Amino acid sequence: MTAVQSSAEDRGGELARKPRSRAFAGRPSLLVVYVPAVVAVHLGLIVATLAGAHPRLEDLLTFTALLACGAVCIEATRRLGIPAGVARDLLSAWWLPVALLLPPAYALLMPVPLQVLLHFRVRRTLVYRRVVVVSALGIAGACASMVFHLAVPQPLAGEPRWVVDAWPGIPAAVACAALFTVVNAALVAVAAHAAEPGSRWREVLWTRESLLLDLVELCVGTLVAITSALTLGLLLLALPPVILLQRSLMHQQLQAAARTDAKTGLLNAAAWQREADTELSRAQRTHDPLALLLIDIDHFKRVNDTHGHLVGDQVLVGVAGTLCHQLRDYDVVGRFGGEEFVVLLPGTDTVEACRVAERLRGRVRRLAVPAEDGTVTVTVSVGVSLLGTHGQDLIELLAAADLALYRAKSSGRDRVCLPAVEGPRATGG
Ligand code: GH3
Ligand code: MG
Ligand code: MG
Repeated sequence: MTAVQSSAEDRGGELARKPRSRAFAGRPSLLVVYVPAVVAVHLGLIVATLAGAHPRLEDLLTFTALLACGAVCIEATRRLGIPAGVARDLLSAWWLPVALLLPPAYALLMPVPLQVLLHFRVRRTLVYRRVVVVSALGIAGACASMVFHLAVPQPLAGEPRWVVDAWPGIPAAVACAALFTVVNAALVAVAAHAAEPGSRWREVLWTRESLLLDLVELCVGTLVAITSALTLGLLLLALPPVILLQRSLMHQQLQAAARTDAKTGLLNAAAWQREADTELSRAQRTHDPLALLLIDIDHFKRVNDTHGHLVGDQVLVGVAGTLCHQLRDYDVVGRFGGEEFVVLLPGTDTVEACRVAERLRGRVRRLAVPAEDGTVTVTVSVGVSLLGTHGQDLIELLAAADLALYRAKSSGRDRVCLPAVEGPRATGG
């Protein structure tokens, strides 16, 4: 599975709870056009490749064996109890050999039973997202299969010369595996971006971590393809290490998920506190300034009451995204509670902290979240506190920022306040 599949899987946990018949409700129109188009291409390719196909026994056996390996891996995943947000797996170890060794029809069909199994045995997700993933995998597999069969017309016929001779078969296999990854990534990224137009392309396409995982999947998938081309029985040797690799991959993701707020992708309160403590100790040691912002959405209850909790959730996601986009990599951003966010700004003095807080307030004001009856906009109130001036540790800083937030709320909301008596700063509203 590629990075963007992960992002498609992770993205919009709120959507997963939406009634199926309303799966597209409130979604941007591009998604409503894009999903059926991708599915239509997938189905069209299946019909085109199946028409006049003459299945060979060897192909059918290879397909069944690789499908069985994929199913075993899914069952192994199931026992780990995978929560939402953990979406990377090593199923490419089985998609890729099918794409490389078999005619395109098999690559088009392979994701269907395995994604159905994932859906019902591991984790249910919105049907349209699952369907996009199936079609993207199918189309990407068919592309890789067609190109590889140009370089190696019959990869399974007789002695696999393309493996023994290595050139040009192996480089062609690697190139086609890369083609599979790129096509799949691009198809899902468009869906992920259409689902959340505010998201950055870089985030829905590739991050450094997901690139590494794609590389691992490419290597494992190509190795499994070579192994099964030599003799199908070698799959029995390939299966245990692939399962083990998958388990360690899942373990890493479970650890990351334990630090993250599933709805917004920000740090959860406990993880934020740990990271903030580390930053605070550093600032105390180096005597660098450090600021804390407590950000609360104004009248958020009204958003829920007027537009429903699902739109409310999308507002939370939108605000979280706005905060992330506006802040530096080393600022520590977390979701503290329902509609309350907390930001630690290392190396930031009072003037700069208020400037940042004002910028965040302004950006959130401009955020427009789509709802069935138009768009929703919100404002935020921000409480600011400074290390040394308003407190010496995290508890004191949080208490001071809370006091400042209270002042911002009681003096009209949609503004930035400090806790001290010097009066509200840079008010908006
Ligand atoms: P104020 O301007 O004083 O902050 O008013 P408010 O309405 O934002 O504050 P209040 O504390 O009265 O209401 C917060 C609401 O946030 C109530 C709760 O239902 C809602 N909420 C908390 N967590 C979530 C969530 O995860 N999703 C959604 N949709 N709503 C949430
Ligand atoms: Mg509020
Ligand atoms: Mg609140």
